[in-house]
Amino acid sequence: MRQSQLFPKTQKEAPKDETALNAKLLARAGFVDKLMAGVYTFLPLGLRVLKKIEDIIREEMTKAGGQEILMPVLQPKENWQKTGRWDSLDILFKFVSHYSKNEYALGPTHEEVVSPLVKKFSLSYKNLPLYLFQIQTKFRDEKRAKSGLLRGREFLMKDLYSFHASEKDLDDYYKVMENSYKNIFEKAGIGKKTYLTFASGGSFSKYSHEFQTEAEVGEDVIFLCEKCRVAVNSEIKKEQKTCPQCDSNDLVEKKAIEVGNIFKLKTKYSNPFKLKFIAQDGSEKDVVMGCYGIGVSRLMGAIVETSNDENGIIWPEAIAPYKVHLINLKGKEGKSSRLAGEIYEKMIKKGIEVLFNDRDDLRAGEKFADADLIGIPYRVIVSEKTAENDSAEIKKRDEEKSEVLPIGEIMKKIANSN
Ligand code: ATP
Ligand code: MG
Repeated sequence: MRQSQLFPKTQKEAPKDETALNAKLLARAGFVDKLMAGVYTFLPLGLRVLKKIEDIIREEMTKAGGQEILMPVLQPKENWQKTGRWDSLDILFKFVSHYSKNEYALGPTHEEVVSPLVKKFSLSYKNLPLYLFQIQTKFRDEKRAKSGLLRGREFLMKDLYSFHASEKDLDDYYKVMENSYKNIFEKAGIGKKTYLTFASGGSFSKYSHEFQTEAEVGEDVIFLCEKCRVAVNSEIKKEQKTCPQCDSNDLVEKKAIEVGNIFKLKTKYSNPFKLKFIAQDGSEKDVVMGCYGIGVSRLMGAIVETSNDENGIIWPEAIAPYKVHLINLKGKEGKSSRLAGEIYEKMIKKGIEVLFNDRDDLRAGEKFADADLIGIPYRVIVSEKTAENDSAEIKKRDEEKSEVLPIGEIMKKIANSN
């Protein structure tokens, strides 16, 4: 992509009404634009990151047997009345049709759609377990939406729902998901700062589990066992005073962002819809369910919160919008422009994702500042001087040192990095 064509240009100042760092950096660097509190447009750079996060999640969910579907956002009141959540869920967006006077909800989560969906296809024990997931926009009437992508009123979520013939089977799959989630956060570059956290299990289980990423802006307080790398959410600290794994009471208080959670629903959402299956002995039994969420857009915000410096974002390679930021420091001779153009074409041919700063209207310092702000992992700079020797300077976003290498070496180095 040529940066001269990229929409929009970077901004020197963050929007005045943004307080969270993720929102400031993402807005300045041109990844997102705020329409109103808690509602964002994903711009070309931002959408590339979001899609990469989606792909990591999709791959792990598919590996764990998940089948992808896409359920409606617009949902009938009746389904929400069946579970009692039409009246009890304070964040539910509701409205009335002007024509039919029917009432609807905008989906904040999808138990009220997925259970009746599965119910339509009479299940036998042979059809279970079943795992359905989607990556979709959710709507929640959040009281406070001031933390950029961390708490949206409209946001992207991955939600998987599992259906089982027994609690034992649910327990086994819960472990599978726990492991899938670890892989996802590892691949997304925040594995080291993300902890399996024991949280309330609601009325049905002792615990549920959250994945909490350590960050100052986080709304949650967790107590971390540094030895086991697991934590306890402050909400259950009174009942759970020690590390659930090693029983140590040496727990460290941290602020954290909940990037995902896994929950045993058991029969909470199968009962209201009479979701049952025919067991091996011919009898009818309740389907047992689990649900597993990841805040896809929140995860993007959480990564920015944990991976940045005073100059901008530092994207982990797996989810960076581009791998290389190629910069042409134009000289009078035109050599650098020729060479930079050649490198750009070569990279595209090799399938290397490259953003090419070919802008005429920026000084060198402004191009470097732009590159730091946008946060692409590799920076390749072509100047009149390096062009003399058919070389360029290469520097990683998170390292100080840089080296000047012949173009062939640079291509190799980038192609060989993962
Ligand atoms: P929270 O405790 O932060 O309000 P939750 O426990 O209500 O979230 P779930 O309903 O389990 O969240 O949703 C699954 C995931 O979706 C969460 O783990 C979180 O990562 C993400 N999420 C929830 N609410 C929002 C929101 N308003 N904006 C962005 N992501 C969200
Ligand atoms: Mg929560």
